[in-house]
Amino acid sequence: MDLTILGIPWDENSSLHRGAAEAPPLIRQAVYAESSGLSCENGLDFGSLNIHDAGDLVPCATTPETMAAIEEAVSRELAQGRGVISLGGDHAITWPVLRAYARHYPDLSILHIDAHPDLYDEFEGNRHSHASPFARIMEEGLAKRLVQVGIRTINNHQRQQVRRFGVEVFEMMDWRDDQFMDFDSPVYLSLDIDGLDPAFAPGVSHPEPGGLTTRQVLSVIQKSNATIVGADIVEYNPRFDAGGSIGITARVCAKLLKEIAARMSESRY
Ligand code: MN
Ligand code: MN
Repeated sequence: MDLTILGIPWDENSSLHRGAAEAPPLIRQAVYAESSGLSCENGLDFGSLNIHDAGDLVPCATTPETMAAIEEAVSRELAQGRGVISLGGDHAITWPVLRAYARHYPDLSILHIDAHPDLYDEFEGNRHSHASPFARIMEEGLAKRLVQVGIRTINNHQRQQVRRFGVEVFEMMDWRDDQFMDFDSPVYLSLDIDGLDPAFAPGVSHPEPGGLTTRQVLSVIQKSNATIVGADIVEYNPRFDAGGSIGITARVCAKLLKEIAARMSESRY
């Protein structure tokens, strides 16, 4: 499928730190850094893929208006037959993106990689919090399955939400590298960078040790039988990144973007 990259520089629903809104241009800069190539592991070249960069969405004055703008921007690309990879921003962007996706793919499955389940009914009074997108998504029936990987912060409330919504959780403590992920419908990949261990991706607002390696995330993406039709890369916070002029986490985001794009380019839907 042909692809669109859409930056969503918006972090107003991040509970603790701002900064994720600054991520999209830094991820693009890392993708095209002279120090790394554009070859993808499946043999495709990122520079040769049919990708339209739609630039960065301009947030509106209020959260509902910005969410409507996100939904509309994603719907426009889907209507043209393009798969969307959005670059966040905090994880609150995923609900409006999924509202657009659910209309286009009524039997969607979600593969969600994150340290956190993000299933809070509300967090500190905010139902649009970056800790709540998957509660909204499942309430509205926007996906037939939600499969979570990398989870290591689950509490009693969120365990109740897991049961309520029938979420399939692969907790980090039980993770096996030979875990096979079987999907029988189009898959939307929601990738919270804090799903990785902070040793690999320190530039996040909520670092949680004991997470996935870069290689393990790539394996989950490459080795499942998922037909990926959309994706987001969220929660990269440049303010906490480490490294030189191009941060470690920016480079990890760029690598994941290249490999997700290469995998989606092979998708037929
Ligand atoms: Mn997270
Ligand atoms: Mn998240």
